[in-house]
Amino acid sequence: MDDRLISAEADDRDDSYEQSLRPQTLTQYIGQNKIKENLDIFIKAAKLRQETLDHVLLYGPPGLGKTTLATIIANEMGVNIRTTSGPAIERPGDLAAILTSLEPGDVLFIDEIHRLQRSIEEVLYPAMEDFCLDIVIGKGPSARSVRLDLPPFTLVGATTRAGSISAPLRDRFGVHGRLEYYNVAQLTDIVARTAEILDTEIEPQAAEEIGRRSRGTPRIANRLLRRVRDFAQVRGTGHIDLAMANESLQRLQVDRLGLDHIDHKLLKGIIERFRGGPVGLDTIAASIGEESTTIEDVYEPYLLQIGFLQRTPRGRIVTDLVYRHFNLEVPDN
Ligand code: ADP
Repeated sequence: MDDRLISAEADDRDDSYEQSLRPQTLTQYIGQNKIKENLDIFIKAAKLRQETLDHVLLYGPPGLGKTTLATIIANEMGVNIRTTSGPAIERPGDLAAILTSLEPGDVLFIDEIHRLQRSIEEVLYPAMEDFCLDIVIGKGPSARSVRLDLPPFTLVGATTRAGSISAPLRDRFGVHGRLEYYNVAQLTDIVARTAEILDTEIEPQAAEEIGRRSRGTPRIANRLLRRVRDFAQVRGTGHIDLAMANESLQRLQVDRLGLDHIDHKLLKGIIERFRGGPVGLDTIAASIGEESTTIEDVYEPYLLQIGFLQRTPRGRIVTDLVYRHFNLEVPDN
């Protein structure tokens, strides 16, 4: 799964690029208009009142721009950003150390916030509500609790699993934003923008073709563009036209909807072995040798989004669209 070209998770090669490709302001950030418009108002209002921005919780699948938005919030507020993640904070003391080192107004970004341990979440509650830290000094009967003031800060939390975040934590965020998959026009704009940063000439139709095959996800759009650029430089003149984009994407085995061999295996497996379903998640997982959680978090969301899979109480079923996509006869039932 790690080598999957169309995985929405970041890999090491993405890391070195992502910094340079990240939009820096709300105006440069393409799409997600609802969240963007709201944030624009909240940021302006906070600045007018010379207050910190309320805590922001962002949810949505990987690669849709949550980290980018956190960076933009800090930029627009004119403050620094500190970045960490739920699994990286192992003990309450780790979080206390981060919180006490913040400058007034800073943004603290916690990625995968649903993976914070409960004991650490509890440190976060008074920090978010009253900007203070309750520290227990000593042990046993002589233990006492001391309150420590913290600089005011904005917590931006990101999660791919809205349902996994605890209610007390969720309720402490004043602003909630759900990121949606991007449409082809928006992805086309993202590809064109990235091509410009990479100093690569691309024709609008080619940008659109890459956008169409990017599974609604900017991270995938940028990655596909980089690979197509490789083909264009080695096999052509470096200029990307529609023919070059199509040929490269075909070689990369990304089909016209952005599905790859694993999606094909999963969908055809349900058709061939389970007559199109319903079939339970664990059975699908076992039949293609993947973890159920990987299927649920990584493969399935996009297939559900484009209407290829449906979740029913009895299991997953493939829809007529899948039969048509593979040029198979649609069964009567
Ligand atoms: P997430 O944190 O949700 O996994 P990121 O914020 O790391 O996603 O975004 C992945 C990449 O996609 C970034 O490098 C960024 O360049 C690009 N990107 C994300 N959202 C946008 C957007 N709205 N406009 C332009 N580029 C974007």
